[in-house]
Amino acid sequence: MSAPAGSAGQGSSEPAPDGALVLFSGGQDSTTCLAWALDRYARVETLGFDYRQRHRVELDCRAGLRLALERMALERQWPGRLGPDHTIDLAALAALGETAMTADIAIVTRADGLPNTFVPGRNLLFLTFAAALAQRRGLRRLVGGMCETDSSGYPDCRDDAIKAMQVALNLGMEAQLVVETPLMWLSKADTWVLAERLGGEALVQLIVEDTHTCYLGERGMRHPWGHGCGACPACLLRAGGFERFQRLRLA
Ligand code: ZN
Repeated sequence: MSAPAGSAGQGSSEPAPDGALVLFSGGQDSTTCLAWALDRYARVETLGFDYRQRHRVELDCRAGLRLALERMALERQWPGRLGPDHTIDLAALAALGETAMTADIAIVTRADGLPNTFVPGRNLLFLTFAAALAQRRGLRRLVGGMCETDSSGYPDCRDDAIKAMQVALNLGMEAQLVVETPLMWLSKADTWVLAERLGGEALVQLIVEDTHTCYLGERGMRHPWGHGCGACPACLLRAGGFERFQRLRLA
């Protein structure tokens, strides 16, 4: 990221020749990852998973976000880079057992310290399906919004877990995939800063208005940081990050 904070885009000259598949849920993090990939790679495709998540509204956000990013791309430095979208039905994940991410139960901390929004193996399965699709599409990079900093404590978001998956996928598929996690060490405030750096105020506003993060799937209320219930762990993280981002902007 060479451009100073606040400037619109890196003005990157030549994109890397590799193609990228972005795990794109329609949330803040994956939308920032999609902009990051568009800024970096000549060919970018997107992948969404329907695992009967309570916040399935995020899936509805995806097409509009892609369209808006494509429009921004045409006007800016990413012309023609956004390729097809893919969705995979993973209803089996919800069938495996009740978690607060897929069933209408209260969000609490489990006895082992993990939140009950944790869907065991979710990101591991996501990466496996993504890798299989990427190989078929001839895309070498997988891009995901997993993050250790400010995270919800999900073990499958940890850097070591992702790196281990990359090794396993490459060994098991005779592939040379690279799993990229540009948000891994960023705070939620840093993620907003990255969005601003990549796409200026237009991208920040797009993320505020049109991405979905709330675990409960609520769109109703519009807060300064976007839509959501304002009380679930995902909303609290997003709100706190946005507040700090605003303070950084004013500093
Ligand atoms: Zn919420």
